[in-house]
Amino acid sequence: MTPTDSSLTSDSDPRGSPPALVPASAGTGRSAWDVVVVGGGIGGLAVAGLLARAGRAVLLLEASPSLGGACLGVTQEGHPYDPGVGLIAGAGPGGALAALCERLQIALPTVACDPTLQVALPRHRVDLTRSVEGWWPEFRREFPDDESGWHELVSDLAFLAAEREELARRLPPLPPDGWRDRFRCWRRLTLQRAIGVTRPAARALHSAAVTPFRQTLGEYGLGAASRQALEACLWYLLIRGPDECSTLEAALALQRLRDGLAVAPGGPAALADHLAQRIREHGGEIRLRTRAARCLTERGRVSGVTTTTGETIRARWVVTDVPPDVLMGELWPVARGPFRRRRSAPGPWEPRRIAQVLGVAIPETFLPSALGYHCLVVADTERPARDDNLVFVRRMVDGPGEGAGGGLAHLCVGRFVPPSMSADGEGLGRALLDALDRVIPGVERVAVHRWLAPAPVLAELWGRPLGAVRYAIDSRAWLGRRGFPHRVGWPGLLAVGEWTYPGRLLSDVAEGAARVAGLIAAA
Ligand SMILES: Cc1cc2nc3c(=O)[nH]c(=O)nc-3n(C[C@H](O)[C@H](O)[C@H](O)COP(=O)(O)OP(=O)(O)OC[C@H]3O[C@@H](n4cnc5c(N)ncnc54)[C@H](O)[C@@H]3O)c2cc1C
Repeated sequence: MTPTDSSLTSDSDPRGSPPALVPASAGTGRSAWDVVVVGGGIGGLAVAGLLARAGRAVLLLEASPSLGGACLGVTQEGHPYDPGVGLIAGAGPGGALAALCERLQIALPTVACDPTLQVALPRHRVDLTRSVEGWWPEFRREFPDDESGWHELVSDLAFLAAEREELARRLPPLPPDGWRDRFRCWRRLTLQRAIGVTRPAARALHSAAVTPFRQTLGEYGLGAASRQALEACLWYLLIRGPDECSTLEAALALQRLRDGLAVAPGGPAALADHLAQRIREHGGEIRLRTRAARCLTERGRVSGVTTTTGETIRARWVVTDVPPDVLMGELWPVARGPFRRRRSAPGPWEPRRIAQVLGVAIPETFLPSALGYHCLVVADTERPARDDNLVFVRRMVDGPGEGAGGGLAHLCVGRFVPPSMSADGEGLGRALLDALDRVIPGVERVAVHRWLAPAPVLAELWGRPLGAVRYAIDSRAWLGRRGFPHRVGWPGLLAVGEWTYPGRLLSDVAEGAARVAGLIAAA
């Protein structure tokens, strides 16, 4: 059978039956694929692993020579550095990453961080411990006037997050085919017919989904310093400020603090290795240095991909770990009819900022003993706690014997900077060293080793132009869908990965991969 590519329009039949499996490309052991996964980041690897384990014939294509995507680290002059991916959410009981590891029988060693995050403002320092009970003495000491406001806010956000999780648990998976079913699900997702939550909870969720967090914050009477501390956490966890995200989005992101965060001694790249191993063990195939160019469509359904070398790979399902404009080309966006996508709306994958990181190794003796794993430093109280006014410092987990041997502490110090800023200019290097000086004042021998990752290097590491870590998101359009496959709008094409979420953490990616794998396995 020779397939004919065709653009998907509203008059093509989106409910057309899936194309029969046809021989795949030459050179593979298999004659047909159930699923082609484009992109070998954690999202792609997770969905491929789960589907291979469920007995599906899976092929994963990765454009770069290595798997792991954003999790990849680098070694420079013998020092291992990672590009910033360090904190792991959802590794505890009931968490999305723990569930993924359990299903695939992966033992990923993690060390719980306590305090989960530290926030340092010029005249305040707050440790957000694993147990929320530990927060109250901190707030009482640093922000005595705001104590009751904090109590109310934390409890209201916890309520929202819990109700949202409950709703997510009860919702049926988004059906990949059939406009009517999709519409029904979307209505539920927009809470018009919310199931499993009480009417007041549904009302609260709905209102939280449409109210900017800044507006909600104003109702709790918190002072400027309290708000800056919150803003710093939000910016670090979500890369968005209170103006840019809704109350529900903020509640879900800040819930991570209560769930607890961890670090993986082997780095998150170890997870990628484990996942790749599982894919192969279950008969899946991984092809490195193979870049998917665009999707094939047939009878109103995505039916495979072509690669940049001109190879045609056909499959019943395509799962994309990369933004769909990469694959859909002129097919994106073309949906017409009642579910029209506004052409002018920017995609959620639009890069806004890049993160520059500086790795340093300094003598242990210079470290303040109270420096935990993750410390957020706000330099200037007059400006928002974001962008270049927010410095993050992470202690890197040393390899065996390294810490003991040299007495060196490896740190990752970073700042969010706009892409317009010269990446490898001296100015940026100085700014980062200055940032370090704010955390560990008076350190004389800082630069035992330092490495500044310029934008092109990050782009290479992350496999995306400019190594985008922040996306322009229309919150209203995206809210409530965390954990659900993105409504790409083409039967046969499902999406996983960071770009499908208002959140960005590995645990969000793992949660989405489980859902997508569940949908395909059940189909
Ligand atoms: C600086 C930074 C710090 C972060 N910190 C944390 C953190 O502390 N904790 C946390 O949980 N999360 C963190 N994240 C987010 C986390 O790294 C991501 O959520 C996660 O790694 C994204 O995985 P992914 O599978 O969605 O995408 P990616 O990891 O980006 O994977 C996409 C893959 O697709 C490949 N690819 C691209 N185009 C093609 C193509 N056409 N064909 C085939 N392959 C293609 C790329 O090479 C890449 O390997 C951070 C991210 C960044 C950038």
